[in-house]
This record gives sequence, structure tokens and C-alpha cells, in this order.
Amino acid sequence: MANKYSKKNIEKIQQSPSPRILLNVGTHGTERVGLKVAEYFKNLKPLCGTFVINLANEKAINVGKRFISDDLNRVFPGKEDGNFEEKLAYKMKPFIDVFDIVVDIHSTETGVNSSLIITGFTPKMKPILKAISPRRVIYMKATKSNALISSAKLGIGFEYGKDKSKKTYQDTVLGVARLLEYYKMVEPSRRKQNKKTIEFYEVDASVEKPEGFKVVPGIKNFTLIKKGSTVGHNAKTKEKILAKKSFYPILFGKNSYKTIFGFSSKMKKI
Ligand SMILES: [Zn+2]
Repeated sequence: MANKYSKKNIEKIQQSPSPRILLNVGTHGTERVGLKVAEYFKNLKPLCGTFVINLANEKAINVGKRFISDDLNRVFPGKEDGNFEEKLAYKMKPFIDVFDIVVDIHSTETGVNSSLIITGFTPKMKPILKAISPRRVIYMKATKSNALISSAKLGIGFEYGKDKSKKTYQDTVLGVARLLEYYKMVEPSRRKQNKKTIEFYEVDASVEKPEGFKVVPGIKNFTLIKKGSTVGHNAKTKEKILAKKSFYPILFGKNSYKTIFGFSSKMKKI
């Protein structure tokens, strides 16, 4: 598989029938659920189109680390003379370019579940999201993205839950199967179609966190914070930070960032 990103292999995929779907796993070496999902689909012979499975960061997977020198999901489109992941992203970029759809499988310990992450939203995207039918879609609109999916024509990231959870695995497999069904690449299942509405969170800004501040207890992701309510506090100075507008918090809490509390979003149902 050493030549999977070679010009020759990329040309071969380019000449393969559409739709060309890439199932990418192992972008983060410690997220094993993707490997299991890849195992589930490894013998799939699509009824139409092209289906390719790719192990992104094999080195990180082999040593059981999230990454070797840098987060692969933060360095796209990469650098020719960069560190290990920057070089890897640079090699992967033309490969990712030839697919119509790139699905990137992750897991998350942040308590987020059944969520698809997208960095671009086009009219084409909506029926695909409806077909996959997650509980939520998080559209990272305002933030500059160097994620793998942001390098794709149409990229969809799966963040369906904790890595070791059986439910994460089963729901992710089901989501990918629904996508393949939508493109008629597999026989239609007799499963009842999920007609539920999807919570669509449009992330519009990051929420700054001054030094010494912490998020106040009780704030829950995807639960509305009303204008004027307390978002963060400083235990020493007793200062508070109030919400300037009402918003739905995204990625607030545990695995939080150094300079931001998380992100603010608007929500609509689709
Ligand atoms: Zn990940």
C-alpha cells in the first residue's frame, strides 16, 4: 500500500466510475472505531461507482498515538517539507481531491454523540445529510478549518461517540451504509427510513476565554445559553463573562481549548 498516494493510483481512481466515495479512517491513531468500520466494509463490491477505504495515519495507528508530530486533522493541505503529518497531508491532498465524497471516521470522548461535522454546506449536501440521518450536524462555518474534510469536494466527518462504545461502531456503520444506499451502491435495505428531523448547528464564532477564566458549571453543549447569562468566571477576581447574545454552545467543557471556551452556534431543524 506504499503507493496509494502515487500519481498512478490517483489517475486510476480518477478514471473509475462516479460516484467515487472514500471511506477514510485512522486520521487520529488512537481512534480505533474507524478501523472496525473499515473492517466491516472491506469486502464491499459496490453496485455502481467507486468505493475506496484508506488508513490515514498508519504510523500513528501502529504506535497507538493520536499523531506523531502534529494533529493530522489540523494541518491540511499540508507542507512538502513539513513535519511528519504536514508531509502526510501534502501527499494525501491530491488523493482526496479525486473523490466526490470523503467520509472521515472519528470517535470522541467529549460527550458529543451522533454528530456529523461538515466544513462546507452546499445544496447537494442536504439530501445526503438527510439520508445519513444523524441526530445532529455541526457546520463549522466561521472557523478557519485545516481539517481533512475541508480539503475534500464534499467532506463529512463522523463523530458518533466514545471510541470503545459498541453503539458508536454500530451507528457509524449504519450511517455509512445509508450513504451508500443513497447512491444506490448497495441494495436498498428493508430498514425503516429514519424521517426524524436533524438539529443543524451553524457555528458562527469562537467564544474567547481570557486567562484565569473557567466555564461555569451547568453549561451543556447543544443547550441554549440565553443573552446575559454567565458563561465563564474567574475564581480569584470573581469576575464574570456574560453572553453577549443567545447561542448554542459547541465543544464547551472538558477537552477545552486554551484561549477559547468553545464555539457559539445558531440552531435550526432540517
Ligand atoms: Zn478524531
